[in-house]
Amino acid sequence: MNLSFQPLDLKLRHTFQIAREIRDVQNNIIVLLKDENGITGSGEAAPTSFFGEDVRSVAHALAQSVELLKNADPFQIEDITNYLKNKFPKDATARAAIDIALYDIIGKKLKIPLYKYLGLNRDETKATSFTIGIDTLEKMCKKVDEVKDFPILKIKVGIKNDIEILKELRKITKAVFRVDANTGWTVDEAIKKMNTMEELGVELVEQPFPVGSIEALRKIRRYVKIPIFADEDVKSSGDIPALSDAVDGINIKLMKCGGIREALRMISTARAHGLKIMIGCNIESSVSITAAAHLTPLVDYADLDGHLLVTNDPYIGVTVDRGRLTLHDGDGLGVKTR
Ligand code: MG
Repeated sequence: MNLSFQPLDLKLRHTFQIAREIRDVQNNIIVLLKDENGITGSGEAAPTSFFGEDVRSVAHALAQSVELLKNADPFQIEDITNYLKNKFPKDATARAAIDIALYDIIGKKLKIPLYKYLGLNRDETKATSFTIGIDTLEKMCKKVDEVKDFPILKIKVGIKNDIEILKELRKITKAVFRVDANTGWTVDEAIKKMNTMEELGVELVEQPFPVGSIEALRKIRRYVKIPIFADEDVKSSGDIPALSDAVDGINIKLMKCGGIREALRMISTARAHGLKIMIGCNIESSVSITAAAHLTPLVDYADLDGHLLVTNDPYIGVTVDRGRLTLHDGDGLGVKTR
């Protein structure tokens, strides 16, 4: 197979702010894998500085993978992804891009959509939340007003006045709130805020504390009722057992774990530990968002709105109607150029 890649600069509809960062553009990389018959699989890397990646590190890992993939059999995903994991342990998004492109090419060779290859029921896709980034109260209200059709909102918090913001947003929408603190709270703050949030219809809280605060997570669970999900704390299946009595669920992202293969392993591991599962995303185009959407029949919650937060997604794949994700019957990922 011939591996090639190109930059994809996604423009954000609104300046995106979470507890630790703010930006207007997301710089991704699209990967194309072409076999000897001209069948092409697409993948995407959406690197984030939080996990130490950027477009340069992604391009470096991909350039070094060209030779390896030249004579590789795409059906041997297990061998290829294990090899890449050993060679590029820190380049999860580069590995995810190749992994996604491999699954796309397999689906196209077999002439079936990815969800069928995985033995899943397309009618079981989950509704996605829509993310409201941190902003002034006025702008957050405006953003909520813009997405009236979405039954579930993920509100980014982790700032001083987050409770006041949630109270104001509650006045203008009946949507379910999921709240993401992105490591922004202390223990006392979390207990106080989460107890108030119970009355505000908050379904779950993501990553209240900095990575590695397992004792703090165990502690607050004695004082709060809202389920807690680990996100930044859980990158791959190996991170799950240690968190299993500290959280209620985990947020899996293809870009954190290195692709579909590892995501499936994480789903099995999380279930074995009695954990709930959300599948989430970075700011991504329809290529990798659609790849993740194919896995939603296996999870409890979807947060796959990365492609809806940008104005220049060059691809069409999974469609979203009032939060409902619909997979269409194309082979592989079922993604086309717009
Ligand atoms: Mg999160």
